[in-house]
Parts: sequence; C-alpha cells; structure tokens
Amino acid sequence: MNIILLGPPGAGKGTQARRLVEAEGMVQLSTGDMLRAAKTSGTEMGKKVAEVMARGELVTDDIVIGLIEEQLEGEAGRHGLIFDGFPRTLAQADALEELLAKKGKSLDVVIAMEVDDEALIRRIAGRFTCAQCGEVYHEDTRPTAKEGVCDRCGSTEFVRRADDNEESVRVRLNAYYRSTAPLIGYYHAKGKLAQVDGLAEIETVAAEIRKILKKAS
Ligand code: ADP
Ligand code: ADP
Ligand code: ZN
Repeated sequence: MNIILLGPPGAGKGTQARRLVEAEGMVQLSTGDMLRAAKTSGTEMGKKVAEVMARGELVTDDIVIGLIEEQLEGEAGRHGLIFDGFPRTLAQADALEELLAKKGKSLDVVIAMEVDDEALIRRIAGRFTCAQCGEVYHEDTRPTAKEGVCDRCGSTEFVRRADDNEESVRVRLNAYYRSTAPLIGYYHAKGKLAQVDGLAEIETVAAEIRKILKKAS
C-alpha cells in the first residue's frame, strides 16, 4: 500500500504518518524532513533551500523530485510508502507517478486532510518537536505526558521550527491554495482520493485513516 497524505501546513500529516510507521511498519517519506536535513548539512543545495523555506515558499520541483528519487532508490524493495508533504504541485505529482512506475509500483490512495485556516494557524503556533526522536507535540492539543520530557524517548530537548511564524505561515497557506490544493481534483479524477476530517481528534483521524487503508487494500 503506497499512500499520499495531502493537506495544508499543520493539517496533521506528520503526526499521522509517524503513527502509521509505528503501527503498520510503513515508511515515511517527508520532503520537509529531507529539506531540513539538507539545510543542516551545509551543502550548496542546503543553503539554497534554507532561505526559501524560511520565507514559506515552495522549493523548486527539481530539487524535491531529486530528493524523492534518491529516497526511492534506498527504499526500492520496501512496501508501504507514505508520501508526506509531497507532491505539492502538479509537476511533482506527474514526476511521482513516473518514478513509481519505473519501480513497478503505484499509488493506492491519496488521503486529503481537511482543516480550516484558523485551526491551522493555532496548530502551527503551538507545534514543537522532540530534538531527539522527532515526535510532534502541541502546547494545547498534544502536550507531553510529563512536562518537558518526550513521551517516546525521554529526551528533554525540544525544538520549534524556524518557519513556524505568522508571516511564513501566511505565505505557506497561499502556496498551498495556489499550487497544492489543485491536486485534490487531480487525484479525485483518477479515482484515488479519500477525504478525512482533519479537525477531529488525533485518535479519531487515525481511526478514519485505518478504515480508508483497509478499504483500499
Ligand atoms: P508542513 O509540515 O508545515 O506542511 P513541511 O515540513 O512539509 O511543512 O515543509 C516545510 C517547507 O519545506 C515548505 O514550506 C517548503 O518550503 C518546503 N517543502 C517541503 N516539501 C516540499 C515540496 N514537496 N515542494 C516544495 N517545497 C517543499
Ligand atoms: P503537518 O505535518 O501537516 O504540518 P503536524 O503533524 O506537524 O502537521 O501537526 C501540526 C500541529 O498540530 C502539531 O503541533 C500537532 O501536534 C498538532 N496536531 C496534529 N493533528 C492534530 C489533531 N487532529 N488535533 C489537534 N492537534 C493536532
Ligand atoms: Zn523523543
């Protein structure tokens, strides 16, 4: 089963992808995570993307397609790919289809997570992640069980993303509606689209996604 989690910034894609990795042994391919790793690696490409990401704009198609291609090489034999935050443009969607076809793979279902702007802004404003294991938390909706200690790995170090500020979020939402939201129609036309109410609680969303996966398998 190969799936895409599609949704605006803050919709809960990363949160749900991590759960699927843990519960179903799937593989998460997050272009956001790959780009953040490239940023800290100090390469030319890393420097180039850092500014673009800080502003909240989309990184060019060729860069993210290249990253996904690299990752697919490594994961060639693996089953259960979750594309998280990719594709974000029609050109990326076409490239993904080609890359998968080359590996004899295809997409099974695209899960669109719907969340309104107001909630997205609240979610992004309260988001923080464990510096050690990357577990995603929220000040109000998903706090750590013990204050200042990661539930998952016990680390006491947390980070906030540099681009999780109001100005960048506005640009990101714009980029989403202009470039990424058209993918909903694109996948609907291919008969691959499933929608979930991303405003529901994390557990409820997870249960909805499990149902969709079961139906598609
Ligand atoms: P969020 O979790 O808020 O949806 P991501 O971690 O997926 O954000 O992405 C962070 C930033 O990385 C984006 O704002 C964009 O600059 C860049 N990025 C990530 N994925 C892509 C992609 N598929 N195409 C272009 N830019 C991307
Ligand atoms: P995305 O990867 O789509 O940008 P995240 O998974 O990082 O989204 O979630 C954004 C923020 O919202 C995080 O702080 C996360 O803890 C929180 N969150 C995720 N899903 C839900 C939900 N269903 N209800 C409330 N908060 C959520
Ligand atoms: Zn942790």
